[in-house]
Amino acid sequence: MRLGVHTSIAGSLTHSVESANELGCTSFQIFSANPRNWRPSRIDPAQLREFQRLREVHDLYPLAIHCNYLINLASGDPRVRTGSITAFRGELERGIAIGAEYLVLHPGSARGGDRKVAVQNVIDGLEESARGLPLGHLTILIENTAGQGSCLGCDLQEVAELVRRPNLPMACCLDTAHSFAAGFDLSTPQGVQTWTVAVEATIGWDSVPLIHANDSRAPLGSRRDRHEHIGKGGIGRAGFRALVNHERLRDKAFILETPIDEDGDDHRNLQVIRKLRTKHAGKAI
Ligand SMILES: [Zn+2]
Ligand SMILES: [Zn+2]
Repeated sequence: MRLGVHTSIAGSLTHSVESANELGCTSFQIFSANPRNWRPSRIDPAQLREFQRLREVHDLYPLAIHCNYLINLASGDPRVRTGSITAFRGELERGIAIGAEYLVLHPGSARGGDRKVAVQNVIDGLEESARGLPLGHLTILIENTAGQGSCLGCDLQEVAELVRRPNLPMACCLDTAHSFAAGFDLSTPQGVQTWTVAVEATIGWDSVPLIHANDSRAPLGSRRDRHEHIGKGGIGRAGFRALVNHERLRDKAFILETPIDEDGDDHRNLQVIRKLRTKHAGKAI
């Protein structure tokens, strides 16, 4: 298992790789620009070289980039659509330049419109955004969602369609908190087993290289996206023990997007995962 957290690029890109290393991570996730505005950003070439050197020295693989939250390729509104395609193309370009393995995208919201049309909008939008770009080693990951509002991606069959249909290198990132809020009870080994069977029957575990490991502050089936510290939410320690040791999951990359309420929270959450894994597997990660 490769284990990491989402780290900040505030100040400089190299800051993120240094933070990941200081936390003892073997993988990490970043935003490649401010995730809450549309402003395009440029990466300083000297900073980029240093970032890549540090990643290699500290053996931090894979690297996932999480897309901007404003991108909504599901939208039929021409203005939102154009902005989303431009922004997603920027994400792809930066992902290629940075040398990331994965680019994680939320499928977007149908905003009350027809879901089938919205799914087709995402597929067309992905292909249009990537037109003419050699993606190299970059794979686009569709993330499952809690299903808040009209968000696509809480139904695994829908995620499978979004992963399979675009003519691009695609796979899936599964978020444990989103799965729990979407109705999968991951708090028990039996519930985890039910979920893994459902994933295999739809997306297929070979198409899931990355797990977003978050506990859920929102109740089971609530369709709300609220992350919690590992072991302190609805999934709990028993659920995470079953998740990190499950044969379908144990060799995936796990990235934590848990809250930072106090200094040291990232370190503590990583330690909980390591302990749950170590106790069971008898082997440190
Ligand atoms: Zn996400
Ligand atoms: Zn979330």
